[in-house]
Amino acid sequence: MLSRHHRSYSKDVESTTTDSMLTLESVSAGCSEGNFVPARKALRDFATRAIHVGQEPDDETGAVAAPIYATSTYVQRELGANKQYEYARVSNPTRNRLERNLASLEGGIASRLFASGMAAINALCTMYKSGDHVVCGRNLYGGVPRLFNNVLAGYGMEFTYVDTSDARNVECAIRTRTRMVYVETPTNPLMELSDLAAISNVCRSSKVDLVVDNTFMSPYFQQPIALGADMVVHSTTKFLNGHSDGLGGAVVCTKPEHAERLGFVQKAAGAILSPFECWLVLRGVKTLAVRMEQHDRNGRLVADFLSHHKKVKKVYYPGLSDHPQHDLAMRQMNGFGAVITFDIGELSNAQSMVKRLRVCSLGESLGGVETLISHPATMTHAAVGENGRREIGITEGMLRISVGIENVEDIIVDLNQALEAI
Ligand code: PLP
Repeated sequence: MLSRHHRSYSKDVESTTTDSMLTLESVSAGCSEGNFVPARKALRDFATRAIHVGQEPDDETGAVAAPIYATSTYVQRELGANKQYEYARVSNPTRNRLERNLASLEGGIASRLFASGMAAINALCTMYKSGDHVVCGRNLYGGVPRLFNNVLAGYGMEFTYVDTSDARNVECAIRTRTRMVYVETPTNPLMELSDLAAISNVCRSSKVDLVVDNTFMSPYFQQPIALGADMVVHSTTKFLNGHSDGLGGAVVCTKPEHAERLGFVQKAAGAILSPFECWLVLRGVKTLAVRMEQHDRNGRLVADFLSHHKKVKKVYYPGLSDHPQHDLAMRQMNGFGAVITFDIGELSNAQSMVKRLRVCSLGESLGGVETLISHPATMTHAAVGENGRREIGITEGMLRISVGIENVEDIIVDLNQALEAI
């Protein structure tokens, strides 16, 4: 695979129309080309594994695409003699395929699939018990503190929220009853990074599990297990599926006891991913490598464009050389991804900008092929409240964009006309 040194992103915009030239001429070298040497190694056969692990042709018919086993139960030859499958809540061949695939892509030993990202996180937390303490990022996806504070705290689990961008904060927050450190990197929407290798050292010396939500980067751009994570969580709803047509969640494990316990939780609690949804993700991951490359290419160009636009006050994107953790991004990630947050000042500016968009759509979620824009203050982070948002640093003029894989000129021209009008 070509390294990013050999690529010229400016070539991507050479064929611009006269109209879009106005916009695209500002797209320059603001984003570093990157020297992702250590992390890039993990990508050598990534695309091949994405297409072949768990995606083997069907034994019976030779079908190239995995069959969807739409069955609730399996006939048994005689008492106690089944063909490996008994009941679909316990296991399903389509689900097993995706579980093998995601374990391979993240470098784990096994993965377990659940009905949504939140169901996966909830299932993972059932491995801990009353009195156990969790140290987590202060700026997690809003649904996670909602689960922690409003559901699991009621069962006696305790949570401390710290700024995980400094591993020392994690170290200071660890107590004798701490069992898990839970991190998202980059965070939503401020795109703050956490140093996974440093946090994993802290966790190892305290014998605490490190769990990383890798939804924003996907295993293509970030390999938390290689950096020391014990478990990786995904909302497969996002980049892994990639087409905004299904919900799902995964936990990838590195330890047999975790994989076994989560298999038991699938059977006992039952929030498993359906065979059809598994099939959608199996289909989605086949193109993960090419999609992520395109998301990243478009993301860099859009971040460059935004950072040069006079109406934009600030851009939050780890690929920009002025991002405070740009060096960490280069060490820890293979690319910068497609999620960008930018600030255009007033709430009224955000309101009028999103009304004028034609190619980009206003909507929650991210990681699909289409460009989506959301307004954290009134959407993803509404429940955090004004004070909470102020503490985190979320303003009313902030918009978060998940850059899709449309023609980047069309995205930029659309953003430009909407920005010019405010
Ligand atoms: N983790 C992250 C980083 C997310 O952004 C989300 C949803 O937006 C979730 C977890 C929850 O996933 P789901 O919506 O599939 O339950």
